[in-house]
Amino acid sequence: MRKEKVLIVEDNPQNMKLLEMLLRAKDYILLKAYDGEEALAMAIREQPDLIVMDMQLPKMSGLEVTKQLRQTLVFSHTPIIALTAYAMRGDKEQFMEAGCNAYLSKPINTRELPVIIDRMLQEHRENSA
Ligand code: MN
Repeated sequence: MRKEKVLIVEDNPQNMKLLEMLLRAKDYILLKAYDGEEALAMAIREQPDLIVMDMQLPKMSGLEVTKQLRQTLVFSHTPIIALTAYAMRGDKEQFMEAGCNAYLSKPINTRELPVIIDRMLQEHRENSA
């Protein structure tokens, strides 16, 4: 089986390091982007199998990146996991409406996130098989 590509989008270096550590042991190809514009460009170029996306990003918000990706057919079903530091009332609804498949508030739950990623990749494989 080919290795699956996971794109991590996070502008905070410590969080990026943590996410990398959590996912390093897995057999994924890890891609990293540090702002919204880079995320969009990299997603289009690399076509990742799953995206973990911080919502608060420089240049373009995670919400905007998600909306733009969902407008293209290639990304109509790519699992997108939203991360956010400021969970405000109505945020979850807004993220899900924009096309995120899951929503996690920070601090990052180090046990939960890898499990969710595994499960979503599996579902994605089954749906596209
Ligand atoms: Mn951020």
